Amino acid sequence: MSIPARTRQEWQALDAQHNLHPFTTFKEIVDKGSRIINRADGVYIYDVDGNRILDGMSGLWCVNIGYGREELVQAAARQMRELPFYNQFFQCSHPPAIELARQLTEITQPHINHVFFTGSGSESNDTVLRMVWRYWSVLGQPERRIVISRKNGYHGSTLGGASLGGFGVVHEQFFGPIPNIVHIGQPYWYGEGADQDPAAFGLARARELEAKILELGPDKVAAFIGEPVQGAGGVIVPPETYWPEIQRICDKYGILLITDEVICGFGRLGSWFGADHYGVKPDLMPIAKGLTSGYIPLGGVLVGDRVAGVLKRDDDEFFHGFTYSGHPVACAVAAENLRILREEKIVEHVRDTAAPYFAERMSELAEHPLVGEVRTRGLMGAIELVRNKATRERFPAEANAAMTCREHCFRNGLVMRAVAQSMIVAPPLVITRAEIDELVDKARRCLDLTARDLG
Ligand code: PLP
Repeated sequence: MSIPARTRQEWQALDAQHNLHPFTTFKEIVDKGSRIINRADGVYIYDVDGNRILDGMSGLWCVNIGYGREELVQAAARQMRELPFYNQFFQCSHPPAIELARQLTEITQPHINHVFFTGSGSESNDTVLRMVWRYWSVLGQPERRIVISRKNGYHGSTLGGASLGGFGVVHEQFFGPIPNIVHIGQPYWYGEGADQDPAAFGLARARELEAKILELGPDKVAAFIGEPVQGAGGVIVPPETYWPEIQRICDKYGILLITDEVICGFGRLGSWFGADHYGVKPDLMPIAKGLTSGYIPLGGVLVGDRVAGVLKRDDDEFFHGFTYSGHPVACAVAAENLRILREEKIVEHVRDTAAPYFAERMSELAEHPLVGEVRTRGLMGAIELVRNKATRERFPAEANAAMTCREHCFRNGLVMRAVAQSMIVAPPLVITRAEIDELVDKARRCLDLTARDLG
């Protein structure tokens, strides 16, 4: 092995010296040192000191089939021997990309029959923007340019992806968003609508889309994009009324509907895609993460017939793509990942076994004095931390309630992510009932420790 053995302290020192991490306050790495993870198996990761930690976040919402699947290693090795790289530019292609495209269209809704491969979720969302704009131009309506997205949505870190994302602090750092992207409210009932009935709140938030279309002019609006369940924004589960109303409004004004499936795709909600779960019919679906269970980078856009039909009659070249669009090794790994998801019936396991048990056990945490709400959907969950359950009063920002809890989790062998004032979980889809018990028991203990610290 070419990576030498070093102590934790040595790794931390080198890390602080040379490695700039994503979404990190750089100077904190120098002050605190990073957590060094060096191996993983099943639903567990191990740090360099040998501590075993239940990975309640599937890496970054991606290791759907769990760690340590030798079949994916073999698929990569086979493909590297055969054809480690070739591109898909200028009328070239290769069997791994063609076969994966075919297989993907088999698990999607019948109107989705094409795929454009990318290297990541962010690149997929940039591709979505380029396709949406090209689609309307080819149709002779280039003034239809505005893409409506949502506050607190997450769509990646390229300039396009970050502009679609709805985080003001992110936009400030790059003077964004880029033109032709606007944001409406999110369907976050606990945080923003709790004085209303959830169904009415869901409808009201969906109807912000209609109001925005009318304000901008329906002939200026190209598309709407949303995550079926917002992930990075804090596992925001929309009321049941929300998505059907979004579909109705998109249909009424003829605007394209895009569901960002980067997290919800490949079984997370107990269906192949989030759109299936909510019964909507998207025109475009950006994918990544669970497509390869994170073993190797790969993304793509699943393209419905409405858009593909127009793009395929464009006389001009589509001036867009990446060196690694449809990388053969990544496609071979993805095909093996799909085989495992299918043959081991992992999506059905989530739907029939894991998700109902996860919902039942997680709901017990709602009794905890620190917890205002627990919500789950499929194998995604959020625990809202509050100072006062009755009034939903939050802790002051300086109390760092969620970060305190996150630290306790790591020390007690569990990864939970902190988002604002909530704790987020999304374990590997292969999690067993016993491992769900372990996750919830550890979460409860960490909530106790956090409550003790916050006084
Ligand atoms: N879209 C969603 C819904 C995501 O959650 C993410 C990443 O978390 C992205 C897009 C961006 O994907 P990537 O980090 O692979 O660029």
